Formats: sequence, C-alpha cells, structure tokens
Amino acid sequence: MSESSNYYSSTSGHLCDLDHCALKTSLKLHTFDRRFYGCHYWSLDDDRACKFFKWLDTNTCPRGTATTPIVIEKFKKLEHEVEVANEELKQARAMEEAAFEREKVAKRRAERVKVGRKISEEKAEKFKIALVLSCVMFGVLPILSSRLGEVRSRQKCLPE
Ligand SMILES: [Zn+2]
Repeated sequence: MSESSNYYSSTSGHLCDLDHCALKTSLKLHTFDRRFYGCHYWSLDDDRACKFFKWLDTNTCPRGTATTPIVIEKFKKLEHEVEVANEELKQARAMEEAAFEREKVAKRRAERVKVGRKISEEKAEKFKIALVLSCVMFGVLPILSSRLGEVRSRQKCLPE
C-alpha cells in the first residue's frame, strides 16, 4: 500500500476522498492495528473499488508489533475453526438432503403399497361375490333340476 493519495473517481463513477471513504483498521503483519482511510467499495471480490488510501495512525506501537503474530495466529485458528464448522454444516445439510430424499422414496413406496392393498381388497370382494353367486347357482340348480325331474315323472305317470 502507498502511504496516501488524493481523491479518486473510479471507472464505476463513485467518488472517494476523506469525506466519502471508509475508516478501516489494518490486520496485516507489519501494519497491524493502524487505522486508514480507504475506498468504501474495497473488498477482494468487488471490482468497483478505486485506489483511494490514506493512513490515519502513524506506525504500529512496539507492543502492537509484538502482539501482532499472536493475534494473527488466533485469527488463523478461528478461520480454520470457521472452515471446519462450515464443512460440518455442509455435510449435515447433505445428510439432511439425503434423509429427505429417502423419506420421499419411502412415502412413494408406502403410497404404492396402499394402492396395491386397495386393489387386492377390491379383487377379494369380487371373488367373494363370485363365490356366493356360484354357491347359489350350485345350490339352486340341483333343486331346480330335481323339481324339474319330479314334474316330468309326474307327467309321465299321468293317465292319458
Ligand atoms: Zn473508491
């Protein structure tokens, strides 16, 4: 970073000077804890930023310089913990998604079983009706045929 610069008007059309910039704090090793003015659009993934920059503080004090590596180490540890937590969250979401998918499959299967059972019950009902009808038919037919036989034999016995 250069020490300072005058205002900039970037290609994105915004204006950065001491009245329009953002006050930030350095987290880098050799300038740790020094405040500076910078473009309010500045970030790693934003290309709208201009080059406006000006230090507010002078140098980092000796105590700050001594503690910077410790603080940076803690930052790295915390960043690592965040990465691990994000990875665990990602895995948990994937497991949740897989469980949701399994639940959907199980519900569809249960629905198919229910429909199959309903069809079987309907078929069983039809078979019952057919059985009752056939019983009736096989029960009534011999009676009818025996009655018919009796009538015929009576007719044969009648004098002409
Ligand atoms: Zn800017």
